[in-house]
Amino acid sequence: MSDTFRAILIDKSEDGQTLSFTELTEDQLMDGSVTVAVEHSTVNYKDGLAVTGKGPIIRKYPLVPGIDFAGTVTKSDHADYREGDRVVLNGWGVGEKHHGGYAERARVPGEWLVPLPDRISTAQAMAIGTAGYTAMLCVMALEEQGVSPASGEVVVTGAAGGVGSVAISILARLGYTVVASTGRTEEEDYLKSLGASSVIDRDEFSGPVKPLAKARWAGAVDVAGSTTLANLLSQMEYGGAVAACGLAQGMDLPASVAPFILRGARLIGVDSVYRPRPQRLEAWKRLERDLDLDTLDSLSSHIALEDVPDAAADIVAGKVRGRIVVDL
Ligand code: NDP
Repeated sequence: MSDTFRAILIDKSEDGQTLSFTELTEDQLMDGSVTVAVEHSTVNYKDGLAVTGKGPIIRKYPLVPGIDFAGTVTKSDHADYREGDRVVLNGWGVGEKHHGGYAERARVPGEWLVPLPDRISTAQAMAIGTAGYTAMLCVMALEEQGVSPASGEVVVTGAAGGVGSVAISILARLGYTVVASTGRTEEEDYLKSLGASSVIDRDEFSGPVKPLAKARWAGAVDVAGSTTLANLLSQMEYGGAVAACGLAQGMDLPASVAPFILRGARLIGVDSVYRPRPQRLEAWKRLERDLDLDTLDSLSSHIALEDVPDAAADIVAGKVRGRIVVDL
C-alpha cells in the first residue's frame, strides 16, 4: 500500500469554503485506534450541505468530508477489531469535525465502528449509508410505538430521496401498506418498484395547517419537517406515530398540540449521529434481515471521488433519486 492516498479536503478562506482533491499521508489522519482502507462512501443530504457549504456542517478546517464509510481494517489497537475485518461507520461527527469518508483511508476510535453483517458487502453498506441506516431507525421507532402492518397506511415523505427510498423498501418488505409522498410524481414506477402501494403529490402536505384534518395515517416517516410534518401530524389516526428525522423542507414546525391531546398522536425524533452502539448493532442486523438487497441495488448508483462536488450540488437541489455510492 502506498504511503499517500487520495482525499477531498475542505478548507476555509476569507472568501468562504474551498474544496481540493489532494494526497494525504496517514500521519495527517486524526486520532483513533483503528485505521480503515475505505472502499466506499456515499453522498447523503448532510454531505451535500457540507461539500457545497450551503449548511453549517463542517466545524473544523481543513477537513475531509463524508459522514460515512465502509471498508477493511488495516491497523487496530482496539480489542474488538483486527486487520481484515469489514466495518461500517455512520455519524459520530465524522465528516463534520473528524476526517471522514471521502478519502482512501480513515482513522477513528474503534467504538465508533460497527462490524459489517456477513450478507452485506461494503458497497451495499454504503448503498444503505447513513440515509438507509436512519430509515431503519425510523421503522424501528414506529414498531416501538406499536405501529404494525395491521394498523393501517404508513406514509413516507421525501419518497424518491435516500431515506425515503430505503424506508419504503423496508416497510413494504415487512408487509406495511406504504404510501409514497413525492414532489417527483414522474417517479411513480420507481416508487412502486420499491414497494409503495400508491404515490401522492407532496403538495398534499403543503397547504395551510389545520389543527386536525381527516385522519388517514397509522404511521409516518418524515424527512421534510416544517409544513409537511405539521400537516402530517394533523392527519394522524388516533394513536398514530410519526418518526421525524429530517429538515429537507425546513427546520420549523408550524403545528398545534391538537393531534397530541385529541388523537394521542406521537411524534418520535430520530437521530442517527450519536445513536448508542447497541441500537446501531440492532439496526444493522435488521437491515441485513429486512432489506431486500436486489431492491437496494436497484435504488443506488455509483460515482467516483471526482464526481462528489456535482453530486453534492444535486442532492441539495433535490435532484438525486435513491442513493449514491462513492467508489474509492
Ligand atoms: P435526499 O436529498 O436524498 O432526500 C430528501 C428528499 O426530500 C428529496 O429527494 C425530496 O423528495 C424531499 N424534499 C426536498 N425538498 C423538499 C421540500 N421543500 N418539501 C418537501 N420535501 C422535500 O436526502 P436524504 O434522504 O439523505 O436525507 C433526508 C433528510 O433526512 C435530510 O433533511 C437529512 O438531513 C435528514 N437526515 C437525518 C438524519 C438524522 O440522523 N436525523 C440522518 C440522515 C438524514 P421527493 O423529490 O420525493 O419529494
